[in-house]
Amino acid sequence: MNTFTSLSLCMFWLCSMAFTPLCAQQSRLPNFVIIFTDDLGYGDLSCFGNPTIKTPNLDRMAAEGQKWTQFYVADPVCTPSRAGLMTGRYPYRNGMSSPKRVVLFPDSDGGLPPSEVTIAELLKQKDYATAAIGKWHLGHLPPFLPTRQGFDYYYGIPYSNDMDFVQGSPGYWAHATKDPNFLADISSYNVPLLENETEIERPADQNTITRRYTEKSVEFIKAHQDEPFFLYLAHNLPHIPLFAHPDFLGSSKRGLYGDVIQEIDWSVGQILQTLETLELAQHTIVVFSSDNGPWLAFRTHGGSAGPLRAGKGTTFEGGQRVPTIFWGPGHVKPGIVHDMGATLDLINTFAALSGTQVPTDRKMDGYDLSPVLTGRGSSPRQEFFYWTRGVLHAVRSGSWKLHVLQREAVNYGKVIELEQPELYEVETDISEAYDRAADKPEIVARLQALIQAHLADMSDALPDNLAGRIEKK
Ligand code: MG
Repeated sequence: MNTFTSLSLCMFWLCSMAFTPLCAQQSRLPNFVIIFTDDLGYGDLSCFGNPTIKTPNLDRMAAEGQKWTQFYVADPVCTPSRAGLMTGRYPYRNGMSSPKRVVLFPDSDGGLPPSEVTIAELLKQKDYATAAIGKWHLGHLPPFLPTRQGFDYYYGIPYSNDMDFVQGSPGYWAHATKDPNFLADISSYNVPLLENETEIERPADQNTITRRYTEKSVEFIKAHQDEPFFLYLAHNLPHIPLFAHPDFLGSSKRGLYGDVIQEIDWSVGQILQTLETLELAQHTIVVFSSDNGPWLAFRTHGGSAGPLRAGKGTTFEGGQRVPTIFWGPGHVKPGIVHDMGATLDLINTFAALSGTQVPTDRKMDGYDLSPVLTGRGSSPRQEFFYWTRGVLHAVRSGSWKLHVLQREAVNYGKVIELEQPELYEVETDISEAYDRAADKPEIVARLQALIQAHLADMSDALPDNLAGRIEKK
């Protein structure tokens, strides 16, 4: 064996030894942190290609962890997307996606059915301490709050930050579309801030909301450092109206939207630093993602989907593919992952890593991604179904995506009835620009068959689904 060969073998051995998942070494239960943003687009982080927004903490998280480039949310708008994440089930199954109303509003009297099993309830099988901090949007009335769905603690604005608009206040769209730095007054949005089930502030001071969510999250981690915990930190921003702490106003070349993202990036840094200071980093998995794509109608006050087509509210890639990072020095093998994954998969993945059991009395739509996280295998997810407003629009299988319905790309107001299905190969044609249906009829037929089988499989959807739990009372 020459010197070069022995050196190479030595390097190979060192590299193999460098990452041994901690889960294989010890029985300590991992902590889980989900940091979920609202309407952040695929192109809004530096590590996903943004040229004018600085996200050094997220960039570090991606470099030390796994950056997933083909990761999906269950629906391109808030409420159903969150229902899918929390339950691992397409939201049509639990009444959180309806053709009649797009999300829950302050006059809705419903929410995620209590019979649904959330990630927090799953982890209660092993007595995890649990907290939801931030936007919930799965029902703001007491029977539907996080405190009734497995969370020990809740602190946040229970729905979108643009709700409870005060009539007579300056309209956001008219101002924001003209001025990238237009800053609304918090009094224009009379949204409540809840602690557990009690309203503690109204209107919530949104200028400091990201900072306060961060402080509450750090407090929770410190208080529960000696037991397994699950923290769901769901920022209300960068959903419009945009607000940032004065420390971040003007900090970015991208205007107010960039300032907001840079504050969220600071917040991520605070969470990681807390975990490291408390020596919990080796025992924690942090997931960063977004609930749907950018709200393009708000121009520079909305984000960017980067190279992906369209944005929020549509079933194009820009609406449902989101920038996602997994970090966990003791569990996650660093790398860039091009496999498919979805927020629907988090509950199965956390179950596998914590030794808990997902429900077996209902259909689940998630997969266990832990083989990918630990570097032992590829993603079991080979297909994804694109639903919105209670209607199936498209399916992806491998690299092929078939659209049977679409929504208008920017304001997503109208459903477009396609005369013929459109077929895109989304791994080579990342912007869904070139319809291949005419040259690939056999693939169109295969994907149409997948749609029919999937629709038949949705038979356990709540019987009153179309009447709509998401409806106005
Ligand atoms: Mg959203």
